[in-house]
Amino acid sequence: MTTPKKNTWLRQWTGPLTSELVRTPGGFGLGQVPAGRAPSATTSMVCGFCSTGCGLNVHLRDGEAVNLTPDPAYPVNLGMACPKGWEALAPLDAPDRATAPLLRDPVTGGLKPVSWERALREFTARFKSIQSRHGSQAIAFLSTGQICTEEMALLGALFKFGMGGLHCDSNTRQCMATAHVAYKESFGFDAPPYTYADFEESDVLVFVGSNPCIAHPILWQRVLRNPHQPAIVVLDPRRTETAVNATLYLPLAPKSDLPLLYGLAHALIARDAVDHEFVSAHTRGFAEFAAFVQEFTPERACAAACLRREDFDRCVDLIARGRRVSFWWTMGVNQGHESTRTAQALINLALMTGSIGRPGTGANSITGQCNAMGSRLYANATSLLGGRSFASAADRSAVADLLGIPADRIPSENSWAYDQIVDGMESGAIRGLWVIGTNPAHSWIRHGRFQELAARLDFLVVQDLYATTDTARSAHLVLPAAGWGEKEGTFINSERRIGLVKRVRRAPGEALSDFAIFQLIARAWGCGPMFEAWRDPEAAFQILKRLSAGQPCDITGIRDFRHLDESGGIQWPCPCPAGVPSPEIGLCHGTPDALADAATPGMGASGASSQATERRLFEDGRFYTVDGRARFVFEAPREVDEPVDAEYPWVLLTGRGTSAQWHTNTRTGKSRVLQLLYPAECYVEIHPADARRLGLRPGQPVRIRSRRGSLEASAFITPTIAPGQVFVPMHYDGVNRLTYPSFDPHSRQPSYKHCAVMVEAVGTARPL
Ligand code: SF4
Repeated sequence: MTTPKKNTWLRQWTGPLTSELVRTPGGFGLGQVPAGRAPSATTSMVCGFCSTGCGLNVHLRDGEAVNLTPDPAYPVNLGMACPKGWEALAPLDAPDRATAPLLRDPVTGGLKPVSWERALREFTARFKSIQSRHGSQAIAFLSTGQICTEEMALLGALFKFGMGGLHCDSNTRQCMATAHVAYKESFGFDAPPYTYADFEESDVLVFVGSNPCIAHPILWQRVLRNPHQPAIVVLDPRRTETAVNATLYLPLAPKSDLPLLYGLAHALIARDAVDHEFVSAHTRGFAEFAAFVQEFTPERACAAACLRREDFDRCVDLIARGRRVSFWWTMGVNQGHESTRTAQALINLALMTGSIGRPGTGANSITGQCNAMGSRLYANATSLLGGRSFASAADRSAVADLLGIPADRIPSENSWAYDQIVDGMESGAIRGLWVIGTNPAHSWIRHGRFQELAARLDFLVVQDLYATTDTARSAHLVLPAAGWGEKEGTFINSERRIGLVKRVRRAPGEALSDFAIFQLIARAWGCGPMFEAWRDPEAAFQILKRLSAGQPCDITGIRDFRHLDESGGIQWPCPCPAGVPSPEIGLCHGTPDALADAATPGMGASGASSQATERRLFEDGRFYTVDGRARFVFEAPREVDEPVDAEYPWVLLTGRGTSAQWHTNTRTGKSRVLQLLYPAECYVEIHPADARRLGLRPGQPVRIRSRRGSLEASAFITPTIAPGQVFVPMHYDGVNRLTYPSFDPHSRQPSYKHCAVMVEAVGTARPL
C-alpha cells in the first residue's frame, strides 16, 4: 500500500486541479467563475440560515447546484451575502449526512440502517403505544424555525388534528417568543411593522441588545447605506462591533434594560417629547403609563443601569430631536427574565413619540432564524394556524371549515411551552418526543438536564440532516431529512417578506424532505385522507393562503410560487385586490395583472410603503386590536433569578460569536471555509482587569463554573466586555451546561443572557 503524499503550501496532492480553478466567463451576468464550476443555468432562492432572508443566485449545472452568489436584484440584500450565505451549499455535502433511517438496536445499543417502511412502522407503533398507555398527550414534538412554512403547517396540523397530540413547540421559543407576545399584546397581532428600507430612512437608530454587525451583517450593510448621516445609539452590556461604530454607546449593566427604558420614557415625557396627536388618536393607556414611569427618574435609571448621567441625557436628546427614530431589538432583549415587558418598553417609546407607521421609524424586532416568522404564524403550536387562537370556538370552526376537518379534531387547549414539555419529560407526563431540525441537547438552557431527561424517554425520534447531532446521538430512531436546497417551500423573513426556497440538489441516499416525511407519517398513522389536499408544498401554500384570508397576515393576493419568484418575495399583508376575492374559500381568482397589483402599495390591510417592493405596517395609524388602538403595556421590573454572589461573582453572557457560525454549528461547522473564520476551540471573553486579578494570560485555559456545571475555554482578554462579566459564544457545546433556567413569565422564553458563574485559571497559555 502506498502512503498518500502530504499536501504542502507549495504543492497540494488532493483537491481541485489548477485547470478547474482557472477563472472563466460565467455567463448569466456572473462575471468570472472557476472553470470547474461554470454554470449552464442559474436560479434565485432565499438563504436558509438567518431571518434576513437574502436572495442567492444558485449556479446550476445539469439542474444541480454547483455554486452560488448573492442576488443583486433581490430587494433584501442587493447583491450582498455574509459568509454563511456564501457557504450555504457546503453543509449539504458533509460526509455525516443521514442517508437512511436509523433504528437503535436493542442488542448492540447502536443505530442501524432500516427501510423507511420499518422506520414508519416503529414510529407509529411506539408513539401509539405510548398514547394508549399514558394518554394521547404523552407524546410531544420540538421543531424548528429552519424548515419551510408549508412543512411547519403540515407538521402542526398532522400532530394536533391527525395524531391527537397537544404539546408541541419549536426552537423559535428560544429566540422570538418574546417579540410574538409583545406585539400581540401591544398591536393586537404578531406584526413586526417595518421594512428593511427603514434602516436607510431613519435619522436615529436605537439598537437594544442587538449586534447586527455580527448577527445580521447584511442589515448592518443596509444601515451603512443610510444617506442621512444617522445617529446610531447602542444599548448593550458588551462593547460589540456595533457599539464600536455607534454615535452613542450606553454600556448598561446586564438585565437593567427595563428600568433604563422606563427612565428614558420618564425623561422624554418630562421634556414633552411626546406626539400627543398620535397618542390620543391611535393608542390607549398613555396616561397610566406616564403615571407609572413617574418614579423612574433619570437618577434611578442611571443607578440601575450603571450609566453616566451625561450619556443618558444625550440618548434622551437624540430621541427627542429625531424626526425619524427607529428602535431595533434582538436577543439581548428577547432572552431575558422580563423580556416581554422590555420589548414593550421599546414599543411604548415608539408609540409615545409617534415613531411608527412612517419611513425610518418603528419598534422593530429583528428575528433570528430564516423562518421564525413562518413558525410564529403557521406552526400550529402556540397559535392556531394563521395567527388564530385555539381557545376561540369561532377560530377553531373557521380553520375546520377551511381544512375540511371536524372541528372537534382541533384542541381548545393551548400546548405546553418548550420548558413545560421538558418539565413533562421529568414528571413522566411526556414519554415520547419527536425532535425535528433542532438540537436541544446543545441549545436548550441548562442542557444537562435535557440530556438526562431525553435518556429516560420511552421513545425519542430525531428528524435531521445529520445523525451526529448531540440530540440524535441518543435517539431511538433517526429520520434522514433533506436540507435547504434539497426541497421547496417558502420562508418568511424579519420584514414579513415571503421568499421562495427551491430544490437545486438531490438529497443524499434515502433522505426525504420534511414535507414528504410528514406525508408518509400521516399515511402510516392512518390519517392520510385528512391531508390529501396537502399534495405538495405548493398545494400547501394555497391552503395557507386560505387560512390567511381576512387575517392581518392575509396573503390571498399572492398567486403562487412563480408570483413570489418573479416579485423578489412579497411582504404580508398582500390581500386580493378589492372585488377579486372569493369569500367562501378566501382564494384569489384575479387576473395575473390584478394579482401583481396586489403586491404594490396601498393594498396592505394597514397601509403600505412608498415603494412597490417595500411594505410598512400601520401607516394609517390603525392597529389590529378590537378598537384599532395600540396599547401601552408595562409592569414593575424585578430582580434576576440568579444574582451574583461571593461564590459565583461573575455574570455570564452568551450570544453569537461570529457571522460565520450559526446556532449549534451543526451546519456551519461542516464548511472548511467557515471553519477558518472562527476559533475552533471555545473561548471566553474576559476584561483585562479581571484577567490581571486572576493572573491570566491570553489564550490560557480557564474553567467557568456555575451551580449547574462547568466548562473549559481559552481566555480571550478584551476590554469589550465589562469587568465582572464574561461572554461565551453560544455555538460551542457546553455553554448551556452553565446557563440558569429562568424564563420570562409572559413568553416563556429562556433567559440566556444572565447567570452567575465563577472563573478560574486551569493551565498555561495557548494561542487562540
Ligand atoms: Fe443573508 Fe442571513 Fe443568509 Fe447571511 S445567513 S446570507 S445574512 S440570510
